[in-house]
Amino acid sequence: MRARMRRALVLRVRTCAVRRGVGGLMPRTLVVVGAGVSGLAAALHLSRVVPAAKVSEIGLESELLPITYNDAATKNRYLFVGGKLCKLPTSIRSVFSKLPPFSQPLAWSLAREPILPRSKEEDESVHAFFTRRFGAEMADYVVDSLCRGIFAGDSRKLSVRSCFPPLFKAERSWGSVLLGMLVGSGAVKWDGAKTEVMERARREGWAQWSLRRGMQSLPEAMEAALRAKGVEIHLHSPVTELRPAADGGCQVLTEGGILAADHVFSALPAGVLGPLLPTAWRPLAQALGKIGSVSVAVVNLEYEGRVLPVTGFGHLVPSGECGEILGVVYDSCSTPQHDRSGPPTTRLTVMMGGSWFTGAFGDPQRVSKERLLERAKETVQEQLGITGQPLTAIVKVHKDCIPQYGVGHWKLLADISEWTVSHRVPLTLLGASYDGVSVNDCIYQAQRGVERLQG
Ligand SMILES: Cc1cc2nc3c(=O)[nH]c(=O)nc-3n(C[C@H](O)[C@H](O)[C@H](O)COP(=O)(O)OP(=O)(O)OC[C@H]3O[C@@H](n4cnc5c(N)ncnc54)[C@H](O)[C@@H]3O)c2cc1C
Repeated sequence: MRARMRRALVLRVRTCAVRRGVGGLMPRTLVVVGAGVSGLAAALHLSRVVPAAKVSEIGLESELLPITYNDAATKNRYLFVGGKLCKLPTSIRSVFSKLPPFSQPLAWSLAREPILPRSKEEDESVHAFFTRRFGAEMADYVVDSLCRGIFAGDSRKLSVRSCFPPLFKAERSWGSVLLGMLVGSGAVKWDGAKTEVMERARREGWAQWSLRRGMQSLPEAMEAALRAKGVEIHLHSPVTELRPAADGGCQVLTEGGILAADHVFSALPAGVLGPLLPTAWRPLAQALGKIGSVSVAVVNLEYEGRVLPVTGFGHLVPSGECGEILGVVYDSCSTPQHDRSGPPTTRLTVMMGGSWFTGAFGDPQRVSKERLLERAKETVQEQLGITGQPLTAIVKVHKDCIPQYGVGHWKLLADISEWTVSHRVPLTLLGASYDGVSVNDCIYQAQRGVERLQG
C-alpha cells in the first residue's frame, strides 16, 4: 500500500501568529519539505484545514474500502515454510493444536511466557526478544516473517524497542508481553476527537482499509485540500540545502529559489536530509546518516481466471526459507473492488529484496526489470503453483524506501532531539525514518510534530 510519491515538493504554510506554548507565538512562515504522506499530513494540520485523520473532510469517505476482521483477507494469513503454505493460527482452538511449521502447539510457548524473568536491557533485537519470550520457532517463523512484511528487514538487526514499542513496554511494565497486552499497556491511545469514520471503523470491526481508486488518491486529495486553503505548493522543486538564518529561522534553498522560513518541518527520509544540512549542524547530519534504509522490488502480476490455491491476505516467507523473496499479497482477495470488469482474473503482488536486495540482485539502480520479473514469476509458480504467462506485469524498484530501526535507534532519536533543542535548530523531523513506518504512524506523528511546536 504505497502511494506513488511525487519527487521533491515544498509546501509553505503562512499562519497568522497563532498562540503557542507558554506565552509564545506560533512561527508565521512554516515550510514543509518532502511531500509524502507525512509532509502532506503535517501541512494539512498546520493549515488548519482539518485534523489529518478526517478523511471525510478531504472528500474520501465514500472512497473507503474497509476490510473487516471477519473477512477472509484478515483471517487467512500464511507462511511459506518447508516448500508449502502453512496457515497461521487464528482461533483459540488452533492455538491448542500442533500445526505446521511448529513442532508443538503454540499454547505451550504462550503459557510459559508470563512466568519468564523480565530483561533489564535498554534494547535488543526483535529476534532475540521473541526467542527469549516465546521460543525459537516463534522467532524464526512468525516474527522473522513479520519483520520482512513490515520493514523488509532482518529481525536479527531490527530493534524491538523501536519496531514494536507496545510489546517492549509491556514486558518492562508488567514483566510479561501477554499480560501487558491484555491490560492494554503501551498501546498508542488516540487522544484527539473521535471522527465519524473512526466510530464506523470501530462499530464495523475494520482490520484494514484501502481506497476505491487506490492509495494514490490519498495524497491527491490531501494536495487538493491544501491548494483550496491557499497553501503554496512548489512541485518538482528539490531542496538542495538548508541554511540557518540570522534571525533564528532557516533558509530553504531549492532548484527554484530560496524560501525564508521561521520553522521547517522536514518530512524527507533521514538519509536525504543529512547531506542538505549546513556544516554548523554536522552532529545532526551524522546522527541522521546512521538511520539506514533498504530497497524493495514490487512486482504486480495479473493472471487469467481464479488461480489461487487458497484465499486470504497473502503469505510471508521467513528468511530461513528464502532471503530475497519477502512475501506475496493476494490483491484480488483483499480488494476485489479493484479487479477489472469482465472475465475473472487473479492479481498478486510479489515483494522482493529488502535487507537481502544487494546480495541477491546487486545494485537496485542497475538491476534489470526482466530479471526481477522472471524471479517473481518463478516465485508464484513455486509457492502458489501458478504457471503460464501473466496478462499484466508491472515491475518497480523502490530505492531506499523503508527505514531500518536498528538496535539503539531510540538512543539515536533521543540524542537528535536533545541536540536540536539545545542548539535551537528551527527544524521538526517527521516521516517514516523515526517513529513508525506505516501510513497511519506517519500521519499520527505528523500531527504530533505540529502539536509539539504549538505547545
Ligand atoms: C513497497 C512498500 C509497501 C508498503 N506497504 C504499506 C502498507 O501496506 N501499509 C502501510 O501502512 N504502509 C506501507 N508502507 C510504508 C509507507 O508507505 C511509508 O512508510 C510512508 O508512505 C512513508 O511516508 P513519508 O512521507 O514518511 O516518506 P516518503 O513517502 O518517502 O516521502 C518523502 C518525500 O520527500 C520527497 N523528496 C526526496 N528528496 C527531496 C528533496 N531533496 N527535496 C524535496 N523533496 C524531496 C520524495 O519525493 C517524497 O515525496 C509500504 C512501503 C513500501 C516501500
